Amino acid sequence: MDNKWSSHLSAEFEIKEDFQPFNQKNDIFNRSLWDSKINPKLFFASYDLAKTFKKSKGFDHWDYALRNASWHLTDHVGEVGFDTKGTVEGFTDYYTTHRPGPDQKAPDLGALAHTTRIKQAAKIFGAGMVGICRLDRRFLYSHHFNRKTGANPVLQIPDSLQYAIVLILPMDYSLSRTFPSALSGTTTGVGYMQSLGCATQLAQFITNLGYEAIASMNDTALNIPLAIEAGLGEYGRHGLLITPNYGPNVRIAKVLTDLPLSPDAPRSFGVKEFCQICRKCASSCPARAIPDAEPQAEPPNISSHKGIKKWTVNAEKCFRFWVGMNTDCAICIRVCPYHKNYSKWYHRIGTKLAGSPFRKLMLWLHDVFSWGERKDPVKWWQGRT
Ligand code: SF4
Ligand code: SF4
Repeated sequence: MDNKWSSHLSAEFEIKEDFQPFNQKNDIFNRSLWDSKINPKLFFASYDLAKTFKKSKGFDHWDYALRNASWHLTDHVGEVGFDTKGTVEGFTDYYTTHRPGPDQKAPDLGALAHTTRIKQAAKIFGAGMVGICRLDRRFLYSHHFNRKTGANPVLQIPDSLQYAIVLILPMDYSLSRTFPSALSGTTTGVGYMQSLGCATQLAQFITNLGYEAIASMNDTALNIPLAIEAGLGEYGRHGLLITPNYGPNVRIAKVLTDLPLSPDAPRSFGVKEFCQICRKCASSCPARAIPDAEPQAEPPNISSHKGIKKWTVNAEKCFRFWVGMNTDCAICIRVCPYHKNYSKWYHRIGTKLAGSPFRKLMLWLHDVFSWGERKDPVKWWQGRT
């Protein structure tokens, strides 16, 4: 095996010989553009102009208006090149907004000092957590997908970009408690907008230093394995990253660079063991898309990786539920015992409890206090959640 591959990820997920990097064409959102099996109906349209207001709480005109406003900047910046090139930056294409840097590199301070400064910069640009890893190219997409033309060329990322700076953008807890609703989609939209700002500003900073940098959100490479390798969290049964500081209620972005950096070490805080006794996401998922059983190497369909042993969400079932609701869902985030208000000391202690031999006590407390219950979206508008 190539020694540039992460031994931690190889062991954590038992990556098999038949593992292949993922073709972005098979992402469920991209499939909805070419695969008749995946019918998006009004899902995308609801982001442009909500035609599907409902009377139910959390799905009315005010709720869609706020959610769509939260996506405005991300959509506007990301789709600037769509008409001419078919690019959707941040989702199928990395950002190209940067001004060129100088010919001369900034003084070399050494990898450790660079890392300290990069983390300071990322935090001032809005990251809640920052981690560094070597770029494990198994998790780059194998092929790019053009949503306008359907073209599916091989993705080219220079070998010189050896590092990934992984950025964690926490989402709003009070809104996430109202999942699922059009209103709660606002926290997703805000999370993407903050990811865009943080990743592009950090990439511009590195460019200004005379190095190469690519700012990326969901495009180019899978975020979760890179975040795990960068020491930012663990993988949960619901297929999401669980961070020690914000649980699963985060968005992830990254900057790929050739600036010499010092990688962080992956860390474990007991998530895998807790997921073995919990299963709240699996039992609460209305689409039955989250596995209740042990991790498997065989994916449920082509929208997930082959040859990597893990809990895999059935993206077809999940997306069908989103389409039916005309917004994203994320019940699996709300019910997760790691989804907490981490500004409260007792919730921070709860996370430590979940990672200890007393994990069953944590699960019991979660139920007793109904921490995973959905909050009334109308109360959010009144400032009462
Ligand atoms: S987002 Fe909703 S439908 Fe999809 S896996 Fe999570 S709980 Fe299930
Ligand atoms: S809800 Fe429970 S089983 Fe699911 S990811 Fe969270 S901790 Fe793990």
